[in-house]
Amino acid sequence: MKILIVEDEPGLRESIETYFNEGDSVCEIAYDFTSALAKVSVYRYDCIILDLTLPQGNGLDIIRHLKANQYNDGVLIISAKNSLDDRIIGLDLGADDYLTKPFHLSELKSRVTAIVRRRSFNGNSTLIFNEINIDLAAKMVTINKQSVKFTRKEYSLLLYFIANKGKVVSKSAIAEHLWGDSIDIADNFDFIYSHIKNIRKKLVEAGSNDYIQAAYGMGYKFTDT
Ligand code: CA
Repeated sequence: MKILIVEDEPGLRESIETYFNEGDSVCEIAYDFTSALAKVSVYRYDCIILDLTLPQGNGLDIIRHLKANQYNDGVLIISAKNSLDDRIIGLDLGADDYLTKPFHLSELKSRVTAIVRRRSFNGNSTLIFNEINIDLAAKMVTINKQSVKFTRKEYSLLLYFIANKGKVVSKSAIAEHLWGDSIDIADNFDFIYSHIKNIRKKLVEAGSNDYIQAAYGMGYKFTDT
């Protein structure tokens, strides 16, 4: 998952980032309203963890900005206990959920995972694409009932493809999804190519069809048509 953490309190921000980075998430951070707005204007996230009281502005305006531009990023509000009104406004504006500070990082992660699952995979814990069966909780892929091992990045890319099945995804969108904006995207096109090559090989060797089509000069498409 690609996550944006918007939180001005350094201790909390760092602990969230460390916690999510230990899993298979790519995290980006924003320290204040302006940097958060800059990020969401350019990049899309599976989920934005959003503090409301920020230097230079209110997190609610980030949600307004997303809606005004019809961006569909998931949003989880993290806010202080006494800001009930803001939480309600946030949910009315289209935030997916909220969590009151202080919270356990494990709960934050389950909430974020639930949001991403709900948005990308209609709340299913199992994702099925023809002969490919993915257990999202266990992160296990089975093909024709046979378990197939993928690396973290391969798994993340396979899910990304299936979530966007039938659509062309550009190499830069893939790079952004896998590594965030912290890297020079062009340097990673070779890595994308080798990840795709490996995914294909594993799928085909396990008896799956080859669903990944290269759209010349544009990117890739995961499709069975
Ligand atoms: Ca704050």
